[in-house]
Amino acid sequence: MTGSLTTQAPHAVPTGHEHGWLVESAHRTSDGIVQYVRCAVCGARRVDVAAIPIPVPAAASRVVG
Ligand SMILES: [Zn+2]
Repeated sequence: MTGSLTTQAPHAVPTGHEHGWLVESAHRTSDGIVQYVRCAVCGARRVDVAAIPIPVPAAASRVVG
């Protein structure tokens, strides 16, 4: 048994990568939906705010004229 272990720094992160954000949690607030996101590659965190989507208006009456 050779028992060779590959040692790699736990924080080995590719530099200059494009973050791949994963939503850890989301909460609806009066300003919109606050999302706490984390990069799956480097573990960086960010808080996003998304506007609450406004539904497409639906006609409440027939067309007049
Ligand atoms: Zn990242």
